[in-house]
Parts: sequence; C-alpha cells; structure tokens
Amino acid sequence: MAECKDPKCPIHGSLRTRGAVFEGKVVSTKTKKTVVIEIPSLQRVRKYERLEKRRSKIHAYVPECMKVKEGDRVRIAECRKLSKTKSHVVVK
Ligand SMILES: [Zn+2]
Repeated sequence: MAECKDPKCPIHGSLRTRGAVFEGKVVSTKTKKTVVIEIPSLQRVRKYERLEKRRSKIHAYVPECMKVKEGDRVRIAECRKLSKTKSHVVVK
C-alpha cells in the first residue's frame, strides 16, 4: 500500500479508530473524500415477531491512500467526529 501524508488516515496518520466496525456497500462517491456507505441491519418488529430488513446510511471519510468507487464493499471504523455528518473512516 502506498504511503500517504493524510493526517486523518487511520493507517499512516494519527487518526485513531475505536468502537464499532461495519462492512457495507458504497452507494455514493459524489463528495470529495467522503463516501456514503449502506449498512444492512436487521430490526426486530415486536408486534409481528419477525425481523425486518433495514438499511442505514453512514457517511465516512476516505483517506488519501484509499481508492473507493461506487459498488465497492468496504470496512469502516468509528473514530472521532470529523465533520458535522462524519465520524467514521474507511479502513479497507
Ligand atoms: Zn494512508
């Protein structure tokens, strides 16, 4: 993997990741250095006693050394809040 000088890179920079790690599909790469990841999740519906499929969308930061395109499966990790909507970073 190439070196990068991105301070917000979890591998080469000083950004520490913590907490939950999710895997999901990239649904949007329209914004620079940000991707929208769709995470499938199952939600139990008490009334019907069955599981309902849900999808949640998470905005994640893309470090300089990561090449991400729409449709990719990526792993993201929780980190400190990077902007108003971002507190996750792509790690793989
Ligand atoms: Zn890097």
